[in-house]
Amino acid sequence: MVTGSRELIREMNRRLVLETVINDGPLSRAAISKKLGLTKATISAIVQDLLDEQYIEEIGSDQTQYGRKPILLQFCRQNGYIITLDLGVECTVLMVCDLLGQNCRLHQYNCTLERDTAINFLLQIIQNQIRLLPATPFGVVGIGIGIHGTVCRNEITFTPNYHLADLPIVDVLTDALDIPVWLENEANLSALAEKTFVENHKNLIHVSIHAGVGAGIILDHHLYTGFAGTAGEAGHMIVQPGGRSCPCGNHGCLEQYISEPAVLSRYQELSGRTTVSIDDLVWSYNQKEADALAVVDEFTTYLACGINNLWNLFSPECIILNSQLTAYLPQLLPEILQKLSARFRATCQLKLSTLQDTGVLLGAARVCISKYLGIEKLYFSGFQP
Ligand SMILES: [Zn+2]
Repeated sequence: MVTGSRELIREMNRRLVLETVINDGPLSRAAISKKLGLTKATISAIVQDLLDEQYIEEIGSDQTQYGRKPILLQFCRQNGYIITLDLGVECTVLMVCDLLGQNCRLHQYNCTLERDTAINFLLQIIQNQIRLLPATPFGVVGIGIGIHGTVCRNEITFTPNYHLADLPIVDVLTDALDIPVWLENEANLSALAEKTFVENHKNLIHVSIHAGVGAGIILDHHLYTGFAGTAGEAGHMIVQPGGRSCPCGNHGCLEQYISEPAVLSRYQELSGRTTVSIDDLVWSYNQKEADALAVVDEFTTYLACGINNLWNLFSPECIILNSQLTAYLPQLLPEILQKLSARFRATCQLKLSTLQDTGVLLGAARVCISKYLGIEKLYFSGFQP
């Protein structure tokens, strides 16, 4: 029992050291010892193991005023790869990156995923990438996949815009590739990416507005997915009792007022145009055309309503928005803030996503590295994609 406890403590300390080098490195052994409150002998032994295992490496010297300059330690992010995919409705994007989500290479495949062929297609594009990768000590350590639908315990449970629910993607890919495969909802991954690569807030919400509307919720540093993995279905909060009907069975859901199809349908209705796009709407808005101004005003009104509800429920430090309209028209941000009640305006930190749609891919990379190393707390300061 004593041996077991010692091994457990050593393993916990090993993860703490690795976590510290990743999040705060490059650091000297002395700095890690001071930061973690562990003896220098303990740190030296763990560091030696991590060096032998090729997780970390020694680089140059730190600058000190007096005495011997200590050697710095940094994580070997180049010793393996992560492959992530964003299974969008009209296109699939694949990213290959290093173990810290950097040196990213993106590949876009414009196609709609069909249920019968989706797994073979994914297997093929992943294998094609793996063949091109130079050899590294760890190879590909994980495959992370962003799903535009709900995911529970690494299984797709519902996909409104394509038909991938219950497909054995994880089992087939894991068997064929011998690499762990992780699935997660796209809005959840975007929230993880914002926390890991941009703002290390304890509590944050990322609102993703595309064909649907979803929120990724980080509470007390952890992704909150709820009992069935469906937490954050913010698009189905009711903002207009008795309002527009929604495929979910309710009326007046937020998604029916601010999703891209909803906004475009409203613009089509008001303008009388037969076909419209977000680009058309943005152009007309900038020309101050009355129909476009009215549609965007409705968008910001309902969005502010949704943000107000999320804010009251969770009180996060920050809410981050990712939508084409707010990306093209960042001047809408103060307008949305104006529409929130006066009491919340003072504390409401509302931001536009800087990662935008790459957040799904980066969030999936974060899931892979976290699972591979067994480390929960990750914050990659100084991130450069
Ligand atoms: Zn609904």
